[in-house]
Parts: sequence; C-alpha cells; structure tokens
Amino acid sequence: MLVYLDNNATTRVDLSVVEAMLPYFTDQFGNASSAHAFGSTVAEGVRAARRQLQALLGAASDSEIVFTSGGTEADNTALLSALETAPEGRSEIITSAVEHPAILSVLEHLEATRAIVVHRIGVDRRGRLDRAAYAAALSKRTALVSIMWANNETGTLFPVAELAEMAHVAGALFHTDAVQAVGKVAIALKTTQIDMLSLSGHKLHGPKGVGALYVRKGTPFAPLVRGGPQERRRRGGTENVPGIIGLGAAAALALAGMEDMAGRLRALRDRLEARLLALAPDALVLGDGTWRLPNTCDIAFSHLEGEAILHNLDKAGIAASLGSACSSGSMEPSHVLKAMQVPPSALRGAIRFSLSRETTSADIDRVLAVMPDILAKLRATVPA
Ligand code: PLP
Repeated sequence: MLVYLDNNATTRVDLSVVEAMLPYFTDQFGNASSAHAFGSTVAEGVRAARRQLQALLGAASDSEIVFTSGGTEADNTALLSALETAPEGRSEIITSAVEHPAILSVLEHLEATRAIVVHRIGVDRRGRLDRAAYAAALSKRTALVSIMWANNETGTLFPVAELAEMAHVAGALFHTDAVQAVGKVAIALKTTQIDMLSLSGHKLHGPKGVGALYVRKGTPFAPLVRGGPQERRRRGGTENVPGIIGLGAAAALALAGMEDMAGRLRALRDRLEARLLALAPDALVLGDGTWRLPNTCDIAFSHLEGEAILHNLDKAGIAASLGSACSSGSMEPSHVLKAMQVPPSALRGAIRFSLSRETTSADIDRVLAVMPDILAKLRATVPA
C-alpha cells in the first residue's frame, strides 16, 4: 500500500481534469488567436476556463485572470510589475520572512541590483505575522506589500484581507501568493482590497506548468513576458491551452463541495496530529492551531532527524516531506522554522504531512501503524 501525504509539494492530476484536457491535444489543437473555427473553439474553451477561475476566486470579472506558466511566474510578474509601475518615490517592498523562494529570491535579486528597500516582517512562534512591525513598515515609500495567504510548510493562514486594507491606507498595492490557499479555503476577492493574487494548477489536482495571476481591474500593470497580444497584452506567448483547460477543470472541482472537503480533511489531519502527539509528547505542532490550512500537519520531533523519519516512512511506502519541497534536499533548516524560532532540538526533526481530497482514513491508519516503530528505532540511536 502506497500512501501519498505530500500534497503541498504537488497533487495528482484528477482524472476528470485529464479527461477535460485530452481533446485539446488532439481534435481541438488550434491556436486560440486564429480567425477560423479551429481557433474559435479553442478560444471559447480558454474563456470557459477563465470563468471557472473567476468563480473559484470570487473575482468581479474573468478579465482579471492572467494565465501564466505557474505560481513562480505569477509571483515574479506581480513583484516586477508593481516596481515598474510604482509612482515616483515609492521604492520599498514589504514582505514576510516566511515567503516561498518564488518571492524571496526575486526580492534578494532586486535588492542587489536596484535601488529598492525590502522589509521582511517577522512572525511569532505560531507563524503569525508581527502586525505591529507591519504597521510600522508601511509608509508613503511603500510600492507593494506581498504576503502569502497560507504558508506552504506550516499551513498558517495570514489575514490578507486586513493586511490589504492597511496597505491601501498607505497608498501601496497588495499582492498575495495564494498558491497553497487556492482550492483549500474559500476566497472572495470581490469583497477584499487585494490587488494581485498568484495561484498554481498543480497544487489543486490540475497540471504542472500552468497557473494564473489575478490582477484587479484598474491595477497598474506591466507584463513580465512580452510578445504577442495574448492575455490582453499582459502575458505574451501562445497559450498553454491544455494546461489552461486543466486548470479551469481543477478550479471547478475544488469549488464544488469545498466546505465539506475541508471538514473531512481537518478531521483526518486532527486525528493524525493527536495520535502523533500521544506517541511523542515532546513533539511540537508547528503553525497556528486555528488559523491553518485544513490539510497540513507540520510536526517537529524533538532530538530526532527529520531525514531519518522521512527515509523510514518512505521504506514503509509513505511519502511525506521535510519542510517545503523546495528546501528538502538541502541540509539547511528551513527559513520558515528559523523565523518561528523553533528550538534547535526540534529544528531538524520537522516532518510535513499534507493531505488532499484523495486522502483516506486508511492512509492515516497506515501512518499511525508504522510511526511507533520508527520513533522507537530512532530514539534508540539518540544519546541520552
Ligand atoms: N508559492 C508557494 C507558496 C508554493 O508553495 C509554491 C510551490 O511549491 C510556489 C509558489 C511555486 O509554484 P509553481 O511550482 O507553480 O511555480
């Protein structure tokens, strides 16, 4: 029996999504820009996908959706667009210390190559943003705030609607990397002041290599990828039509019954977490207890090596993750856990289990069946 609990890294493409995509590789192969029937049927498919995303995001108009090659491109576009269109004198960006590298590495590069200032706002031990530091960093020099909706490692949710209102009072734009939140929590952009939002297909049972940037109507915008007139001149290049169709189908799938799914996953996750804590009373659940994605359990086992736990889980046919997918493989403890001041004794023992709509109660039972032996075996190797 194989158990996949690494859904924050990526998800399996749902069969209904594959079925929706398939015709767009064969019969419906046209270029959406072509002025003949092959083009117009494809253009209609792309329009339908845009409306499916609009519905998932609760956006006012489908014209606010710009398809991209994924979450990373959407994040890069938002940051660079805001800087390029910023009024004179606004050259500062505010972000959090726990963003994904798709944000942090761009900002490091920009800091090194342009005359800009980046404020990285810290978090507390539960991964919650330091609101006072955020309020103090906002000023008439702020061009953009970019703060994630949900953290990929801990699942902690950020109060982005409120943070966006504060950004607007200071006259700054607000972007959120919602790659981990979209499809897992209800989103109603119409009722917020969020100007831009990034999402990615492969985190919600859609294909890899496709995503979108939501750009609120009226938001100043400069494209990152220039070329043809696609995406209302906001992203050049012939559209990844099968990918876009798949992203639309995945959005519709996520929207249907989202609340029930969240409740089911939360119950499974909470059962997993409670049993793991009973097995290891000195383990720490990382992230905010309440304001957290329903599918994510990030737990640090004191004095044990996460790598060793992961390896033993893998041998038992269970896939989980060390911190985020992007930092696993490196020996550096995750920047997120460092920012949360996780004690050194637990820093290296963090394992992330991330569930999805495919996760069953039997999957959780399987983890709980093997963990006692894994923990006992590894504890036996730890010096007293
Ligand atoms: N932002 C967050 C929070 C993520 O978790 C990820 C993927 O792990 C990305 C951005 C990057 O998205 P993509 O893989 O589509 O480029």
